[in-house]
Amino acid sequence: MSILARDGFVGDFCPEFDASKYRLGKLCKRGHDYSGDGRSLRHANGNACVQCGRDRVKQWKKDNPDKVKKSSALYNTRHREHRTEVARIYRQQNREMCRAYHKSLYWKNPEKGREKARYHRKTLKGKARRVRYRHERREMLKANRVPYTTEQMMQRLEDFGRCCAYCGDKLKLQGTGNDVFHWDHFQPLTKGGIDCITNLLPACSRCNINKSNHDPIEWYINFEFFSEARWMKIQSTLSISEACSARRQYQQLTLFGE
Ligand SMILES: [Zn+2]
Ligand SMILES: [Zn+2]
Repeated sequence: MSILARDGFVGDFCPEFDASKYRLGKLCKRGHDYSGDGRSLRHANGNACVQCGRDRVKQWKKDNPDKVKKSSALYNTRHREHRTEVARIYRQQNREMCRAYHKSLYWKNPEKGREKARYHRKTLKGKARRVRYRHERREMLKANRVPYTTEQMMQRLEDFGRCCAYCGDKLKLQGTGNDVFHWDHFQPLTKGGIDCITNLLPACSRCNINKSNHDPIEWYINFEFFSEARWMKIQSTLSISEACSARRQYQQLTLFGE
């Protein structure tokens, strides 16, 4: 009868399980039932219970954390290439989990995170990434575009009284700071938004950067400057019917020539 690797007994993931090295024998003292019929997995040479051995090793590791740390550090330095390769594959297979983990690290200590980000922006890889983002954005703008005029943009700016559509702050047309004037794509370009006048809003840099590529309503409702009146105003200006926004479908209205 062949012996199969079983979860929790011979490792959860055991590619090199060699059935010829084991046999099924009498149930051990601690009652490690391997086969489901009262027999334990035992080493073929000698008679020791496999699971008992594993438990002993586990206990020893618990009792000698310093020794474990030392030996694993030694192993890691001796097999550096192997370790980095394994880590790389793990990150590739668990991309979402790794991302969430790093995000949680960032929010534990945002100042440190920002410091790190600043550092990475200055590295060659960071610079390359920024160039790629810029190019991708340019391509996105080109591909999803309904032409509009400067007059229409000025009209849109006046519609909101030269204020940020989201927080209502007066917009500064020059300089640096929180309230510098940006054009915001209401439905983000990365989420299928189109570069057209029915998708453009004047916004301050703080709101625009904070909004990033979030879903507009989800972001705005939780935003500290949320205002019902301004939300209605945005909707009416962008000609989004209430029924549409309730279904969270932001229709991109084609531009009517004026
Ligand atoms: Zn046992
Ligand atoms: Zn704002």
